[in-house]
Amino acid sequence: MRIAVASGKGGTGKTTVATNLALHHMRQGRKVAFVDCDVEEPNAHLFLKPEMDDGTEVHMPVPVFDDDACLGEECRKCVELCRFKALIWMAGSVMPFTEMCHGCGLCKLACPADAISEGTRAVGHAYRGQLPGLTFHKGLMRIGEAMAPPLIRELKERATEDASNADIVLLDCPPGASCPVVQSLENVDFAVLVTEPTPFGLHDLGIAVKLLRKLDIPFGAVINRDGMGIDAHAHLRENGIDLLGTVPHSIEAAETYSRGEMLYDASPELEQAFTAIAERIESKAGGAV
Ligand code: SF4
Ligand code: SF4
Repeated sequence: MRIAVASGKGGTGKTTVATNLALHHMRQGRKVAFVDCDVEEPNAHLFLKPEMDDGTEVHMPVPVFDDDACLGEECRKCVELCRFKALIWMAGSVMPFTEMCHGCGLCKLACPADAISEGTRAVGHAYRGQLPGLTFHKGLMRIGEAMAPPLIRELKERATEDASNADIVLLDCPPGASCPVVQSLENVDFAVLVTEPTPFGLHDLGIAVKLLRKLDIPFGAVINRDGMGIDAHAHLRENGIDLLGTVPHSIEAAETYSRGEMLYDASPELEQAFTAIAERIESKAGGAV
C-alpha cells in the first residue's frame, strides 16, 4: 500500500504527519519504506534519524547533437517539437539548453537524419538510510538544478525495490501542486492532505484537492494545529472533504517539533492523535495497510 502525504503549501506540517505515521507503523511491528520526495529541501531524516549512506549520483537523459549529420536550418524539426523550449537554432546549429530538457526523447525520435544521440547529465544524489523496521530514501538536487522529477522517480524506483519487504510505503511529497508533486503522486493508492486552520492553508488545500480529484486518487485531510485559527472542520464539510483526524495545537507540540523530536512520543494525547489518523487512513484505504 502506497500512501502519499501532501499539502498545497509548505509549512503546514506535512513532514510531521508523514514521519509520525511512519513511527506509528514501526511501533506496530510493520515494515515501512519511507520516501522523502522533497528533493529541494529534504528534512524528514532530521526527525526519523536513520543511518544514511554516502549517496549515489542520479542522471537524466539529454540529447547530444551531431552537427555534421544535421540537415540544417530547413529541417528544425527538433526545435519546433520540443514543447519545453529546450532547443533553439543559433549560429548554424541546434543549441540545447539541457537545464530545461525533460528528457522525453521526442527530438531524437523525430530527427530524420539520426543526428541526435542520448547523453546524460547529473541532477543530484539519492541516499538510502536504515532504522530497525524502516528503509529511508531521500534525494538532494544539485545546486541550481530545476529538474526534480527524475530524482523523485529514482527514489520511487528504489522504494519499489524495497516494497516487497515493506508493509507500507509512505511518500512525503514536496510542497505545492506542480510537476514534482504530480511525479510523487504517481501510482499511490491513497493521499493524505495536511492543512492548517488559516485562510492560506485552506486556500492551498483547495488547489491540492483539485489536483487529486483530477488524478482520481482517493484522499482525506488532516488538520494540523487544530484549534489555532479558523474553523477548518466546517470548511472540509462544506467542500465534501473527508476528515482523517487532527493534530491539536499546543505549545508542547511546537517545542517538540523545534527540538527535532517526534510528536508521537511527546504526550499520550499526540500519540492517540496519530494512532487515530493511521486507523482512519487504514479504513479509508481499504484496510490493506
Ligand atoms: S531534427 Fe535532426 S536534422 Fe532536423 S534540425 Fe534537429 S538535429 Fe537537425
Ligand atoms: S528530450 Fe524532449 S525535452 Fe529534451 S530537448 Fe528533446 S524534445 Fe525537448
